[in-house]
Amino acid sequence: MDFRDSPDEAAFRAQARAWLEANAPLRDPAAIEPGVFENWPTEQEMQAARAWQRRKYDAGWAGVFWPTEYGGRGGSIMQQIIWNQEERRVVTPPAVLLMGQGHVGYTLLAHGSAEQKARWLPPTLRGELAWCQLFSEPGAGSDFAALACAAERDGDHWRIRGDKVWISDGAYADCGFLVARSNPHVPKHKGLTCFVVDMRAPGVRVDDVRHPNGGSHFSHVCFEDLRVPDADRVGAVDDGWRVSLTTLMYERFFVGAWGSSGAFGGPQLRHLLELAKRSELAGRPALEDAAVRQRLAAFTVRARAIEHMSYRVLTTVSQGGIPGPEGSIVKMEFARLSQEMTCFGLELLGPQAMLAGADAPWQGAFQAALLENPCMRIAGGTDEIQRTIIAERLLGLPQETYVPRDLPFRDLPRGGGWRAAD
Ligand SMILES: Cc1cc2nc3c(=O)[nH]c(=O)nc-3n(C[C@H](O)[C@H](O)[C@H](O)COP(=O)(O)OP(=O)(O)OC[C@H]3O[C@@H](n4cnc5c(N)ncnc54)[C@H](O)[C@@H]3O)c2cc1C
Repeated sequence: MDFRDSPDEAAFRAQARAWLEANAPLRDPAAIEPGVFENWPTEQEMQAARAWQRRKYDAGWAGVFWPTEYGGRGGSIMQQIIWNQEERRVVTPPAVLLMGQGHVGYTLLAHGSAEQKARWLPPTLRGELAWCQLFSEPGAGSDFAALACAAERDGDHWRIRGDKVWISDGAYADCGFLVARSNPHVPKHKGLTCFVVDMRAPGVRVDDVRHPNGGSHFSHVCFEDLRVPDADRVGAVDDGWRVSLTTLMYERFFVGAWGSSGAFGGPQLRHLLELAKRSELAGRPALEDAAVRQRLAAFTVRARAIEHMSYRVLTTVSQGGIPGPEGSIVKMEFARLSQEMTCFGLELLGPQAMLAGADAPWQGAFQAALLENPCMRIAGGTDEIQRTIIAERLLGLPQETYVPRDLPFRDLPRGGGWRAAD
């Protein structure tokens, strides 16, 4: 593992940092950051996000890894990660446009036709198109290949019927990247097709789904006989499993690399240290208590271990390799550690932990995080699914198999949810 930048990477970092410092104020390290799954942006915040994106685009910093013909910088994926790390150091508007430039954009780059890339990618980089990812359904989450949302061919169009749930950014997305069942007569992985859908088209209904903390971040999306032109199909008919694996691979990769940016959802380690300094235990600062110090030391060690595991992912990429299941360790440990740190913060707050809202101590950040943290253990693959990946791919344990892989989708035993017509 190599923690240092190569000379080229260091030069790129210096260039990125200089531009960012000249164009955005530095983040106050003591400021309390909002949670990862904060509320939908207001119209004003949305405009600020689009304006920041446009500014980066005009200066050649949008889409560092994207080809120049689509408005990107034509850099390496390592340069993209360095940019992401550096951008985190400055104050930027909410990350509402990231999905299009992240795993959805990379999927279009890999599988879109030349015409589709020219149509969708430049406006995405300019901040004119916001995206959402339409994979999960009420009856298909961890096993998303079991999805039932139906796509039926109708001349040069497709008719989409079914529903998707837990769709991040669904409320303000202009476009959605959809996986639907085009063939129920073949095994479940073989009858899926991907489409780009217009989220404002007639036949799309978007309903708010509230978080336990009262915030809004994701939606329930219903397709009531939506018509999608065949020209908006991404990849071959029935090849949607392969296409969507690209989306999931990039999603896991960016989560895996994330630990290196010093980002910890909800209250971060430094907030916890500060809280321990300011709280009292038996008439003395809590930080002077041996048991508190041991807990803080243990959190610090684990946070550093996650960071180093992330560097392992980056080293692989920096050397031209494809990262393996290390990202699952980062994701799982990161989510658990955030939750445990939050609970310890609430212990330190004592009776004040019962207060909530922006006027509570620490702006109620620990209380809000308590309700938000479980999301991180579910989104992007649950803890149990990460454990399965680690067991099978790192430890070499036998693969889990519940149903024969060659059974046609329509014959599979399934729970609730809409079932594709035979
Ligand atoms: C904040 C947030 C944002 C999200 N954003 C999006 C989005 O933008 N787009 C999108 O498509 N989806 C999104 N999701 C959905 C997310 O991908 C799913 O919630 C997740 O994959 C789990 O699926 P599920 O909720 O259907 O739970 P299920 O798959 O039904 O799982 C229920 C429980 O059973 C366990 N389980 C399931 N299968 C196994 C197994 N084989 N072995 C052991 N345990 C198992 C799970 O770990 C879990 O504890 C989001 C979710 C959250 C929380």
